[in-house]
Amino acid sequence: MSISMHRSAEAQSRAKAFKLAQSVPLPLLVAIQKSVKNKFEKQVSRSGYSMCSLKQVAQIPSLGKEVQSLIKQFTGRSKLLWQALGTIWPEIKEMHMDIKVHNSPKFHVGTAGPGMVYITLQTFQDVLRLSPKGRKQALNRLTGILAHELGHNFMRHILQKSIQYLQKPNKYHDNYYPTLDNKSKQLLQDVINKMPTTPLSNHQKEFEADTIGDLLITIAKRSNKNWGTPNIMYDLWTNFFPSLKPENVDLVRKSHPSYRQRQLQAARVTCCLYSAIVTHRTTDVTSPVMREKLLDTIPTKSNL
Ligand SMILES: [Zn+2]
Repeated sequence: MSISMHRSAEAQSRAKAFKLAQSVPLPLLVAIQKSVKNKFEKQVSRSGYSMCSLKQVAQIPSLGKEVQSLIKQFTGRSKLLWQALGTIWPEIKEMHMDIKVHNSPKFHVGTAGPGMVYITLQTFQDVLRLSPKGRKQALNRLTGILAHELGHNFMRHILQKSIQYLQKPNKYHDNYYPTLDNKSKQLLQDVINKMPTTPLSNHQKEFEADTIGDLLITIAKRSNKNWGTPNIMYDLWTNFFPSLKPENVDLVRKSHPSYRQRQLQAARVTCCLYSAIVTHRTTDVTSPVMREKLLDTIPTKSNL
């Protein structure tokens, strides 16, 4: 019996949307990302916050040695996760990841598209403060948080969102659409025409990002066995996020699944990976079949 016979209509629609999104070449994705990036960076500077690279922020002595060291180690981890992403998305190997840090006083991490990640300084401080086992634990948690953002990148969520915007011309549409050449406009129009009519809910996107994030950690850990950690995603949703004060978290929005739902999803992903790697002796965790299996563990709207 084929797997597809067991797949829900929602899972099939997700697979179709993803396949279409994959047909958009990376340079076009990056072009689209530029406007999202500019919009976000303008918002940050209008709010009076400043932004710099990870390297620059690690040099700020007033942060204290612990935070500085954490940021330096995190820089190393981010490269390993980027390499892991390259094993399932070879095109991005030619790009560098650009992580920017800004000093908004809230815990917040976000992405504008492939390799473009924003993280607040407060996030590093909160993760360190709320990790009782110290820097190693904090580093693993930051790894999980970044892996989630790269999961959004892999699933082309920015593209899916942009396509929704493109369908209804607005301020955002005006920003970048006219700058694209005709061939790119045609390609995007074709993708719009073929996209399933019901877009994925934000809940589904968050689950997808967690699931692919977990996969990236698994891939990266296979060649870096000294990470010595249990399930990073499970720990995030079971211990770390519930310990953050909700008023300090930008991340807690109605559009996100509950911590409990995400904890359960992390457990489902672990079971699926365990069953593939240990029971069925799958060695290729980077295969599309593995990804489909993992994404199929995401609950559908009806059984949430
Ligand atoms: Zn997310």
